[in-house]
Amino acid sequence: MSSFNKYNFNENLLKSIKDLNFNKPTPIQDKVIPEILSLDKDIIATAQTGTGKTAAFGLPIIQLTDNKNKDIECIILCPTRELCLQITKELNSYCTYMKYYRIVAIYGGAKVETQIKNLKKNPKIIVCTPGRLNDLIKRKRMDFSLVKYFVLDEADEMLSMGFKSEIDKILKEIPLDRKIYLFSATLSAKVKKITETYMSKPLMIATSSANKGAETIKHIYCISTKSKRYDLIKNIIDINQNIYTIIFCRTRRETNDISNKLIKDNYNAKVLNGDLSQNERDRVMRQFREKNINILVATDVASRGIDVNNLSHIINYNLPDDPEVYVHRSGRTGRAGKEGISIALVSKREYKRLREIEKLSKISFTQIEAPTDTEVFKSQIKSFTDRIINISLPNEKEKEMFKDFYNKLNSFTKEEIIGKIISMNIESSDTTKINTNNKKSSKNEMVDIDTQISKLIINVGRLDRMNPQELIRLINKTIRSRDTEIGKIDIQKSYSTFEVDSKAKKMIISKMKHIRHNRKLILVSIYNPDLIDISKNKKHKSKKRRRRKK
Ligand code: ADP
Ligand code: MG
Repeated sequence: MSSFNKYNFNENLLKSIKDLNFNKPTPIQDKVIPEILSLDKDIIATAQTGTGKTAAFGLPIIQLTDNKNKDIECIILCPTRELCLQITKELNSYCTYMKYYRIVAIYGGAKVETQIKNLKKNPKIIVCTPGRLNDLIKRKRMDFSLVKYFVLDEADEMLSMGFKSEIDKILKEIPLDRKIYLFSATLSAKVKKITETYMSKPLMIATSSANKGAETIKHIYCISTKSKRYDLIKNIIDINQNIYTIIFCRTRRETNDISNKLIKDNYNAKVLNGDLSQNERDRVMRQFREKNINILVATDVASRGIDVNNLSHIINYNLPDDPEVYVHRSGRTGRAGKEGISIALVSKREYKRLREIEKLSKISFTQIEAPTDTEVFKSQIKSFTDRIINISLPNEKEKEMFKDFYNKLNSFTKEEIIGKIISMNIESSDTTKINTNNKKSSKNEMVDIDTQISKLIINVGRLDRMNPQELIRLINKTIRSRDTEIGKIDIQKSYSTFEVDSKAKKMIISKMKHIRHNRKLILVSIYNPDLIDISKNKKHKSKKRRRRKK
């Protein structure tokens, strides 16, 4: 049973809460919800980003305004269009079973007409950015005479964006007996002033996590020039085997640049920036939340409102101008009592900004030396060893299959084999051969060991009227033998893959190069799932070549 049941919310709300998998109230919700429901006091609540502040005010306000009256009863102010949409979406998700209950978003940069039309549908709550709301107030007398609840979300940010006078104007429009609820991640002097002007004996609520959470974050920095930064990031990732991180950059270009490099280097990384469509963003976020990717390279703007907070590391590819932004970034790690690490990479010049952040945000940074290649290597050997320790032994059938392998290695002592494993890893000192948790294991990794089955790809598929029988015929014809074992065949649209005995691999690749299927020049290579696009390109090239010949 959901522990939200104790609040006497209506059944529809409870059903949505259940759908959303909110099992129990977060600490800030636990403190704020009963206070709002009691209609007793104005409230100032501080809690870190991602602690569920929206539901802390949203749920009780929806409960209190669930009536058939036609007036706007609640105004929520927030600093940006993105937040406005995010809050509206979140609140709507609480009202899935209350179709009659309307919430309207009012924000700049979109058509006023549509918003005016929406306002005519009798919303109970409007979620607004201050500027646009004032525009609407000027244009048209809006009736706020029945507004009972006024929420300032991300108050600090609104004030630091210079919305003070806009907020003043709006507050003049609403009745004096409204309740004001102010939510913020931090409490600046500016916020305190607003609270003194407008709120009467507000109740101060701070969840301990606002401070404690901060204590569980370790802030470290590393001096590094721009040119060395990418390698440094790679080393940080390699050293931290279970890293789950956002790498923050200042520009889209930087995010694209770094994520492309990481992907090329086989890391499970994706980019999140303004170049992505909403659908693409949603997809990336889903993959990140489900940990299908463990590295997100993002701009601050794009990551606003990301509801993933249990990160192991935050990597600041460079420092933001605004110390507040640094606090927001690092606040995404160190949750639920677990220690999180926020790493800032700074040049000597940027060092001054680091000191500024320390002063303004009361954070202290510790310097670390850039991890050396040796440290990375050691850490990789460690994870390689862990893998060996944890992997299960082959069963009898598999052992039988690899009998040759056993026989060949049998003459070495245990010590020698261990030594050889280490040497093997040292030899491949680019360390990419050691497959760490952070890198995608490429599926053809084992295929190169000349002991088993190899998977090959050929540039003909269904479109070329290829089918399994025809493929077998083609292979046998080329190598003039029927003894070659051919394993699984998979015919795709523009290419096919097939498995063969590894011993025959080289011969097949070289001999099939010279033949044609339906006049198309055949190309065979070792299958690498990451390179399928290339094989398609090759197909195009061969087409061109053919045309030229004609
Ligand atoms: P904040 O405003 O404090 O930064 P949000 O209100 O945006 O945080 O909430 C962050 C995320 O946590 C949202 O995705 C929200 O749906 C989710 N959430 C809120 N309350 C709960 C809860 N009680 N249990 C689980 N998830 C919750
Ligand atoms: Mg919020």
